[in-house]
Amino acid sequence: MRAADISGDLDRVLVTEEEIHAKLRELAAQVEKDYEGKKLLLVGVLKGAVMVMADFMRCLNREVVMDWMAVSSYGSSTKSSGVVQIRKDLDTDLGGYHVLIVEDIIDSGLTLSWLLSNFASRGAESIEVLALLRKPDAAKVEIDCRYLGFDIPNEFVVGYGLDYAEHYRNLRDVAVLAPHVYA
Ligand code: 5GP
Ligand code: MG
Ligand code: MG
Repeated sequence: MRAADISGDLDRVLVTEEEIHAKLRELAAQVEKDYEGKKLLLVGVLKGAVMVMADFMRCLNREVVMDWMAVSSYGSSTKSSGVVQIRKDLDTDLGGYHVLIVEDIIDSGLTLSWLLSNFASRGAESIEVLALLRKPDAAKVEIDCRYLGFDIPNEFVVGYGLDYAEHYRNLRDVAVLAPHVYA
């Protein structure tokens, strides 16, 4: 759905679908160059990264494989605690692969920080991060993100895979929710 279909629920659109697609094409060109001749595995973090993964992967003009992890972070629905539990682990042995973790958003950074240390002992050739969005003002730990889409203000956003209580993932753009939706 488009922002116009649910304009009453939204405060404002931050990043449009067109801007996202243009950025993903740019990032894909960089990744093609950086990983030339290397075995590349994309690891998506469910569920928020499904749209980024699907669109980014199709921008890549090279052979690539993907896998998924599902993790849950304890804490309230809008704040991450950094205490992470694996709900679904990888199917792939990381040995021999250059791993690119594909994430929807870096907020506190706690989830990715945990994932990066979890991956560190799994035998990958290298591990890097691609994130569509980042909130610089929310960082609790610094994440070295090699491929970044957009820095955004420290507000709760939905759309393009990102949910509020499992809703709004199918919104094509990234938008800030209107305050009355929380009330
Ligand atoms: P972090 O551990 O960096 O604080 O964020 C962990 C996860 O929380 C993100 O991967 C994302 O799924 C979710 N999250 C963080 N910020 C937002 C946001 O503004 N909107 C939505 N819908 N989810 C968010
Ligand atoms: Mg995520
Ligand atoms: Mg969520």
